[in-house]
Amino acid sequence: MSENHELILEAKHITRRYPAPNGRTLTACQDVSLNFYRGQTLGIVGESGCGKSTFMRMVVSLEQPDEGEFLFHGRDITKLKGEELRQHRQKIQMVFQDPAEAFSPRMRVMDIICEPLLNFKRIRKSEKEAVARRYLEMVELPGDFALRYPHSMSGGQRQRVGIARALVLEPELIVYDEATSALDVSVQKTIIELLVKLQKEKNISYGFICHDMALVQSLSHQVAVMYLGHIMELLPGDKVADGCVHPYTKAMAEAVFDLHMDFGKPIESIESEAPSPLDVPPGCPFQSRCPKCMDICRKEKPVLKTIAQGHQAACHLYDLK
Ligand code: ADP
Ligand code: MG
Repeated sequence: MSENHELILEAKHITRRYPAPNGRTLTACQDVSLNFYRGQTLGIVGESGCGKSTFMRMVVSLEQPDEGEFLFHGRDITKLKGEELRQHRQKIQMVFQDPAEAFSPRMRVMDIICEPLLNFKRIRKSEKEAVARRYLEMVELPGDFALRYPHSMSGGQRQRVGIARALVLEPELIVYDEATSALDVSVQKTIIELLVKLQKEKNISYGFICHDMALVQSLSHQVAVMYLGHIMELLPGDKVADGCVHPYTKAMAEAVFDLHMDFGKPIESIESEAPSPLDVPPGCPFQSRCPKCMDICRKEKPVLKTIAQGHQAACHLYDLK
């Protein structure tokens, strides 16, 4: 799988800390290493607050890591400044959860879609409507929507406009942060189908964040499972339901894919809440909720180990073998 695809962006040992009250430090991402490949989707799953958005904000250069580097085609982009950073930003775009908030209500759809192109002086104002119509058709909306205002459209239509806006710069990577989470399931499905189609047509890379594990695994070539800022498991999307090994992934997968559940076994799903990212214990971050917790898990933090091709897990259960 991924090994045969061109590496676009490499995140290497990314750590991001935020100052917290009382002089404390919150580590939102801890030593995260992940790769984005051409034409492939990297999905990130994990509970709210585990650091998914923080990681992706760094991927799109909205903020910088405290440690580690992002190599875009081998070049460290964390050091870019000024005009170089501005030019680089064209290559990686982001679509947010609620485009209604991201769009100015006074701008027409064609202004929204073409704004990035005008900012980079890649088209003339007179070309706006024609360009907007072309991209509206690409996201399967009528060309006439170019003249509309965002408030006169449905949530799903607005999200298509958001996708069109992300596409106009012809980026190599698009990050979707819960971009379909606010939509009805049926609308969500048609948008996902559109994303898959556009990815095939344009051979574009995606980063996809979503709290819906079933959805993420269905469209992701690789899935990274994150917990309290750490990557716990990285595996091919089609192995999530049946082939995951980490107790955290298993608990989440069992809750989602109940078709695969063995009703003879006690359900190992986790009921307690994740500890605060301010109180990550030494050893394994998941120890307090893990049904398989051992002595070593309270002392030593497990590192990611290769289980199979394209499959890694950070769990002491897999050191022992
Ligand atoms: P997710 O997207 O997985 O829900 P986030 O990346 O938004 O998680 O947040 C990870 C952790 O970092 C959370 O504990 C959150 O409160 C904290 N955090 C995120 N952004 C900031 C910030 N700008 N300042 C302080 N803490 C932040
Ligand atoms: Mg988030």
